Amino acid sequence: MQEILYRSTRSQAAPIRASEAILKGLSEDGGLFVPTQIPKLDKSPAELAGMNYRQVAYEIMKLYLTDFTEEELKSCIDKAYDDKFDTGLIAPLKKAGGAWYLELFHGATIAFKDMALSILPHLMITSAKKNNVKNEIVILTATSGDTGKAALAGFAQVEGTRIIVFYPKGGVSAVQERQMVTQKGSNTHVIGIHGNFDDAQTGVKNIFGDRKLAKQMDEKGFQFSSANSINIGRLVPQIVYYVYAYASLLADGSIKDGEKINVCVPTGNFGNILAAYYAKLMGLPIDRLICASNQNKVLYDFFDTGIYDRNRDFILTSSPSMDILISSNLERLIFKVARGEQKCAALMQALSKDGKYEITDEMKKDLSDFWGGTADEAACFARIRDLYEKEGYIIDTHTAVASAVYDDYVRRTHDETKTVIASTASPYKFSRSVMTAIDEKYADGEDFALIEELSRLSGVAIPPAIEEIRTAPVVHKTECDTDGMKQAVCNWLGI
Ligand SMILES: *Cc1c(COP(=O)(O)O)cnc(C)c1O
Repeated sequence: MQEILYRSTRSQAAPIRASEAILKGLSEDGGLFVPTQIPKLDKSPAELAGMNYRQVAYEIMKLYLTDFTEEELKSCIDKAYDDKFDTGLIAPLKKAGGAWYLELFHGATIAFKDMALSILPHLMITSAKKNNVKNEIVILTATSGDTGKAALAGFAQVEGTRIIVFYPKGGVSAVQERQMVTQKGSNTHVIGIHGNFDDAQTGVKNIFGDRKLAKQMDEKGFQFSSANSINIGRLVPQIVYYVYAYASLLADGSIKDGEKINVCVPTGNFGNILAAYYAKLMGLPIDRLICASNQNKVLYDFFDTGIYDRNRDFILTSSPSMDILISSNLERLIFKVARGEQKCAALMQALSKDGKYEITDEMKKDLSDFWGGTADEAACFARIRDLYEKEGYIIDTHTAVASAVYDDYVRRTHDETKTVIASTASPYKFSRSVMTAIDEKYADGEDFALIEELSRLSGVAIPPAIEEIRTAPVVHKTECDTDGMKQAVCNWLGI
C-alpha cells in the first residue's frame, strides 16, 4: 500500500507519519496537517455495499493511517464502534422530505462528534506507543458544546491521558452544559470561560503555541495534544460515514452504482464537510457539497464573494455548535486551492492580523464543488415544524439549518440529484428549541417535561445519555476569564 505522510499547510517542514500527526494535532508553524496526497478508494462501491460500518471504517482508515498495522487499526475500530452506539448500523439513513438524513448521533453523547471522538483516544494511545512517548498526554479542547462532551466521554478513564475542556459559559444549551459539568473521571477537567467559542479556541491555540509552557510540561511528564477537529485523527474517521452512506444507498437500491449524490452539511468549523470533500477526492461519486451556515454566515459569504471576513457580530443562535466565525478546517481547503503553503500561510496571517482575507479568482474557480447557503432562525424553526407535521420526523436545530438550506438549494437550482443531509445531533440535545419550533406553547416548559413530550411526539425513546444527566451531580464548577486559561491549565496540572 502507498505510504501517506502528513505535511503542514503553512511550511515545507518535512512530512511526518500519521501517528506523529495525531499526537501533535497542530503543526509547530501553526499550520494544519494534510496528507501529501489523497489516497484513492481501493474497493468499489459495490464491494463496500456488502460491508458493515466497522469493515468500511477499516477500508477507509487503512488508506490514511499507513503506519498503523492491520491489527492496531482493527483493534481501535472495534473498541470505538461497539455497543456505545444504540444501533448496530452505527450511522443509519432515514428518508424524509425528499432527502436522506444520515443520522450521526447514535453514539454516547448523541451528537456527530462521537463518530470521531469514540475512536480518537484509541488512535492516540496507539500513536503514543508507536512513538515511545512516555509523557502523559493532556488533551486540551475548546468546545462550542458537542465536542467537549464527546471528547470527555471518549477520554475519561483512558490510561495515560488527561483532558481539559473549555466551553463558553452561557453559550451552550442547558443539556450540553449539564452533560459536561457532570462528567465523571479523575482525569477530566471542565472550565466555563467568560467569552465565546472563538475566544476559547484562540486561547487553546495560544496555549499550544507556548514553547516555554511546553518545556515546563515536559519536565513534569506531560505533553499536550488536541482533540479538536483540526486533528487528522478526527478528520479521517469522518470520511468513513460518507462512504458508508453511499454504500448503504447502493445496498438498498436507492441509487445505481456510480450514480452521483449531493451531500449537505450543517457547518461550523468545516471539519465534517471537509471529510465529505476528501471522500469525493478519493473517488466517491459525490457531485455537490452544500455547505449550510446559520446566521453566523462567514462561510456563505466566503463561497459567494471569495472574501473571508470574521469582522462581524457573533450571533448566538439555537444551533450553537455552528456559532463560529473562524472555521479552522477551511485552512485545508485553502491550502488545496492556493496550490502551496506560501499563499496559504499569507492568507492565514492576514486572517489572524486583520480578521479577513480574499482569495484570487483562480482559487475561487476551484471551489465550484461547493455551494454555500444560509438559514436564519425562522427558516430553521419552520423546517422543523414542517418536517414534523408532514412526515412525523423530528430533527435537531443544526440539522434543520442544513435541511432549510437544502430546500433553498433545490428551489434555486432545480437540481434533482439525490441528496444526503448530515444529521448531526439528536433533537433531544436541543429539546427546548426543537419543541418551541413545533409549537410556541412549549417555550416556557421545564427541560425534562419537554424531553418527555418530545418522546411522545416523535415516538423515539429518550436516549440513555439524557436519562443519565437527569440526576447526575455537578462535579465541575471552575470558571475563568479568557486571559486566565493558561493559569487554569497550570493549576490543575500542578505546574
Ligand atoms: C460540531 C457540530 C456541527 C459543525 O460541524 P463542523 O465539523 O464543525 O463543521 C454541526 N452540528 C452539530 C450538532 C455539531 O456538534
